[in-house]
Amino acid sequence: MLEFRKGDLYIENVKLSDVAKEYGTSTYVYSKQQIVNNFENYKKAMTLRDGLICFACKTNSSGAILKILADIGAGADTTSGGEIYRCLKAGFNPSKIVYAGVGKTVEEIEYALKNKIFMFNVESFEELDAIDKIAANLKIKANIAFRVNPYVNPDTHSYIVTGKKGTKFGISYEDAVKAYLTAKRKKNINIVGIHFHIGSQILEIESFVVAAKKIKKIVDEVEKNGIRISYIDCGGGLGIKYEKGEKVPSPKCLISEIFSVFDKDKKFIFEPGRSIIGNAGHLLAKVLYRKMSGGKNFFITDAGMNDLIRPTLYNAYHEIIPVKKINANVKKVRSDVVGPVCESGDFVGRNRILPIVKQGEYLLITCAGAYGAAMSSEYNSRPLLAEVLIDDKQTKLIRKRANYKDLILNEVL
Ligand SMILES: *Cc1c(COP(=O)(O)O)cnc(C)c1O
Repeated sequence: MLEFRKGDLYIENVKLSDVAKEYGTSTYVYSKQQIVNNFENYKKAMTLRDGLICFACKTNSSGAILKILADIGAGADTTSGGEIYRCLKAGFNPSKIVYAGVGKTVEEIEYALKNKIFMFNVESFEELDAIDKIAANLKIKANIAFRVNPYVNPDTHSYIVTGKKGTKFGISYEDAVKAYLTAKRKKNINIVGIHFHIGSQILEIESFVVAAKKIKKIVDEVEKNGIRISYIDCGGGLGIKYEKGEKVPSPKCLISEIFSVFDKDKKFIFEPGRSIIGNAGHLLAKVLYRKMSGGKNFFITDAGMNDLIRPTLYNAYHEIIPVKKINANVKKVRSDVVGPVCESGDFVGRNRILPIVKQGEYLLITCAGAYGAAMSSEYNSRPLLAEVLIDDKQTKLIRKRANYKDLILNEVL
């Protein structure tokens, strides 16, 4: 979806320099076609079995993007009452919404139950008690799965490993069977499945398979006790290609490997986030200033760590490309691409060999659709940036740039 034509970078059939001129920078730009293609890849891989593909909406919760996914049949994986609210607004069928998270509040549980979501992915015994009690008050039954920590350690950044022994997520592996036996005795709990989610940006299938096999053992044990587990919710976590040369397994490969672990009668849920929206969104920024310091070139852009925190938080790599193709004979220099925020950690890319683009030119920070806008903040009192959706030749503003007044909107004194 991203290509140079006659020296200009395009997303679908829209020239990015035109987007920059019309909407200003910094701006998140998304390709609708890429989102649809990514989802279709999952859907095709699922055809052999029954189940749901629930978009992990913490990766990007823009209403217009949620709506695209709801319209093509996706479910939603949520982590808070706020996300459930956004998903309902965007048109997701509540019977396709699942809800995980280690710290669900009474208000959130009540909200989810009243809106009849499909299931809670329960992460502790105390949460189970809370859900049972709240459901009893509402005179309904709550569908649940336990999120079980399978104790695997996929090769990814430590902040995004979740299925390893010692993380805060899920019921410990040893307690999993006990959790199901406890849930069976609860009057307002209806057991429908089991859930595991081992981490994010995982580029090898092996960890998923190891986790699935461990989960299968729990399923067998639980079913021996007369408790039926209909849904296997395998979480998300499949990585995307951020850097040239990275090898990325396909959803088809992941899903067929997991299918082979479980019995044919099981239904499946997958919760992809990054692999749906990551490569469909990019951050468009302008070079404000350039300078040499300490033997290095600095490009200072209008996109900062408040707009995209992944490089700062995870030392994440995003390829950065000039929006106008640079002549091959223009000199390239080792550069840091940094933002205007007052922190040394405010960078979008370090030690990149980049051509000396001019002041006022635009750069595209690629593959920033996941955990980009969703993690943005107003730090340094920088109003939240604009978001634009491209659909073939059309460009639509999906979130307008905030202004100074928005910064103080909720201040009451
Ligand atoms: C974050 C998360 C996901 C999505 O992970 P990706 O790596 O973005 O696919 C899915 N399920 C749960 C429970 C999560 O917390």
